[in-house]
Amino acid sequence: MDASVRAEAYVDLTAIRSNVELLRERAGDAEVMAIVKADGYGHGLVQSARAALEGGASWLGVSTVDEALALRDTGITEPRILSWLAVPGERWGDALAAGVDVAAYSTWQLAEIAEAAASRATRARVHLKVDTGLGRGGAPLREWPALVDAALAAEAEGTVTVVGVWSHLACADEPGHPSVARQLAAFREAVAFAERVGLRPEVRHLANSAGLLAVPDSHFDLVRAGLAIYGLSPIPSVASSAELGLTPAMTLRARVALVKRVPAGEGVSYGHRYVTDRETTLALVPLGYADGVPRSASNVGPVLIGGRRRTIAGTVCMDQFVVDVGDDPIAEGEEVVLFGPGTSGEPTAQDWAEATGTISYEIVTRLGARVPRHYGGERSS
Ligand SMILES: *Cc1c(COP(=O)(O)O)cnc(C)c1O
Repeated sequence: MDASVRAEAYVDLTAIRSNVELLRERAGDAEVMAIVKADGYGHGLVQSARAALEGGASWLGVSTVDEALALRDTGITEPRILSWLAVPGERWGDALAAGVDVAAYSTWQLAEIAEAAASRATRARVHLKVDTGLGRGGAPLREWPALVDAALAAEAEGTVTVVGVWSHLACADEPGHPSVARQLAAFREAVAFAERVGLRPEVRHLANSAGLLAVPDSHFDLVRAGLAIYGLSPIPSVASSAELGLTPAMTLRARVALVKRVPAGEGVSYGHRYVTDRETTLALVPLGYADGVPRSASNVGPVLIGGRRRTIAGTVCMDQFVVDVGDDPIAEGEEVVLFGPGTSGEPTAQDWAEATGTISYEIVTRLGARVPRHYGGERSS
């Protein structure tokens, strides 16, 4: 870590490449769509996308049209990009002009897409989404026939090509959960219906990272892998990322800003929720909840300083927190690792998730804009 840096998220692009290589193998004949929404789960949109493509992903997936356009703007012109979350009046025209595939969950969305395509004299590439039981986006099963019919009509009119039929799993991270088999059956039925009445989608896709790794029947033609490409386990109750052969790509670290000796009985940080029980040394770490360190990590968040795992002392503040380092000779400027791959004794994002009652997705995605991302393993092409 550079001596002038307060704090940074170091992202190892080699890890993303090799995770994707491994996931490609696990996907068998299915292609891999690397999900890079939410700034690549906090790892950087464009850098993550490029590394995933180098690792063998053939598609990119994002939530919003804005994210898709940002990818195209940086010169990612060839690979297919799917964007799936839209509101009425969405920037459909911009998406189509940039060659971005879009999703339709409903007949009104399909009508807006068809209209945008007609006004540009082009055909939109559309993925029809069916809600097979997640209870979130997608057409409910009872509305699926109407959506399929509207898509057939738009194909006949020349405004739309249905290139995908897809859905999303609710409980793929809980192996054996009865909803998984129910969703698989409902998805097969929805696909069969669409094909029976004349749609010919290139790709049928259902699996997220957990589906890819734990539910082989969910692979179909394409898997949408997010968390696992960043090296974190989507099924932590079943297998750790190391057990899955994945390498966490992000290390969050900072440099100690101040150390001081304090007596026993000293209250530490807001609310004095930690009180020293002996004379000791406190180390001040310049990262706080504005940087994405959860306030719920107060008194529980794990860190590595001076080769030892320790726990945050007291309340996490907006910009800083304190660690009681005992009598260890910790100096200002020394490196503090909040989480990383876990191979040098440091905690992992999964450890942070468990300490704070959340999932590793949230730990990496919530990192604030104030934390600079530094990259290693870049390929100069
Ligand atoms: C975020 C997302 C994914 C990726 O999920 P992971 O669990 O991170 O693999 C896949 N599909 C959809 C629709 C998503 O929103």
